[in-house]
Amino acid sequence: MTFKELNISEPILKALVSKKYVSPTDIQTQAIPVVLQGHDLLGIAQTGTGKTAAFALPIIQQLSQKELHSKKREIKALILTPTRELAIQIDECFKDYSKYTNLRHTVIFGGVNQRSQVEALRRGTDILIATPGRLLDLIKQRHISLDHIRHFVLDEADRMLDMGFIHDIKRLLPLLPKQRQTLFFSATMPQTIATLSKSILNKPVKIEVAPVSSVVDTIEQCLYFVEKPQKSKLLIDILEKEDEKTVLVFSRTKHGADKIARVLNKQGIGCEAIHGNKTQGARQRALTNFKSGKTRVIIATDIAARGIDIANLELVINYDLPDVAETYVHRIGRTGRAGNSGTALTFCSHEEYTMVKDIQKLTGKSLAVSY
Ligand code: AMP
Repeated sequence: MTFKELNISEPILKALVSKKYVSPTDIQTQAIPVVLQGHDLLGIAQTGTGKTAAFALPIIQQLSQKELHSKKREIKALILTPTRELAIQIDECFKDYSKYTNLRHTVIFGGVNQRSQVEALRRGTDILIATPGRLLDLIKQRHISLDHIRHFVLDEADRMLDMGFIHDIKRLLPLLPKQRQTLFFSATMPQTIATLSKSILNKPVKIEVAPVSSVVDTIEQCLYFVEKPQKSKLLIDILEKEDEKTVLVFSRTKHGADKIARVLNKQGIGCEAIHGNKTQGARQRALTNFKSGKTRVIIATDIAARGIDIANLELVINYDLPDVAETYVHRIGRTGRAGNSGTALTFCSHEEYTMVKDIQKLTGKSLAVSY
C-alpha cells in the first residue's frame, strides 16, 4: 500500500517524500480512507504506531480542498491532547505535513505566558492543537471560538482521564458544533473510556492496531550500542559465532542493504539482499534459496521483507533502527513464530537512541544491553 493509493493529494505527498515516509503504517492504512469519507473514528492505538499522521493527513487534505470555499481564517480543526509535549509534537507534525498547503496551525498549552499564543490566534488559524486547561481559559477570555469546528480530535483519551481532565472535556463538548467529524483515540479501552466515546461519537468506525506486547513477549531482545563505522564488524562477529542459524538482517535503505551484502560476501559469509530495486525474479530466487537453507543470511529493507514468511527464522538483526517504533515490532515478529524461540538483536548508534526510547515506550519493555 502507498500513500498515493490512499488518495493522498499531491501537496501532502510531496511533504511525505521530504519526511522520507515510504509507506503508510497499519493505523494509517486503516484510518485514512475512513476519515476522508467523513466518518467518525474510534481508534485504539498507542503512540509509536504513526497515529498522529493517521488523523493529521486526512484532516489537512479535507481542509485544503475546502480552502477555496472558505478563505476565512477561523478554527476548523481542533486537536485536544493531554500534555504540553504531545501538543508540541502534534503541532510539528501539522507543520511538516501541511508545508505545501496554505493552511495555518497554532498550538496552545498551559504553564507559559499566554501572550504569544493569543497573538498567534489573532493572526488567524485553521488548525488548533491544545491542552484542555489553556483552551478553556482562552475560550473564557473570548480569544477562541469553536463555532466553526468541523473536525475534532480527542487524542490519548485514557491519559486525559488519568490526568483528571474529564470535567474539562465535559465542559468543552457542548461548545462544539453538533455537525462535525470526531476522531477519538485511546491506547486502552476500559469501560469509562468506552462510555465517554459513545457520548462523543456518531456511528464511529472502530479501528484497532494489534497490541504489541503479546508479540514481543516470546522474543529475546538485545541492544548493542555501536557507532555506524563499527556496525559491519559487529555483524560479522555475530554471524560467525551464530553460524548455524538462519538470520534476517534489516537495513533501513536499499543502498545500505547492498553494502552489507557486499561486506559479508567478501568475508565469506554467503548472503543475499532483497529490496525494491531488485527484480521480482531476483527477489523470489533469493527467498527460495533462503527457505531451502542454501543461503542462511538475508538482508532486507522493511518493504521487501513484507513478503517473507519463514517458519523457523531464529535470529533477526536490526542493523539500523527503523523510522517508526511499530516497524520494530513488525521486524522482530518475524522470528519466534509458531511457538519457536526467537532472538532479536538491535544495533544502535548514538543518534538512533531516541528511537530506542520510542520502542521501549511502545512495547512497555526495556531492551537488555549487550556488550
Ligand atoms: P506517532 O505514533 O504518531 O507518535 O508517530 C511515531 C513516529 O513515526 C513519528 O516520529 C513519525 O514521524 C513517524 N512516522 C509516522 N508515520 C510514518 C510513516 N508512514 N513512515 C515513516 N515514519 C512515520
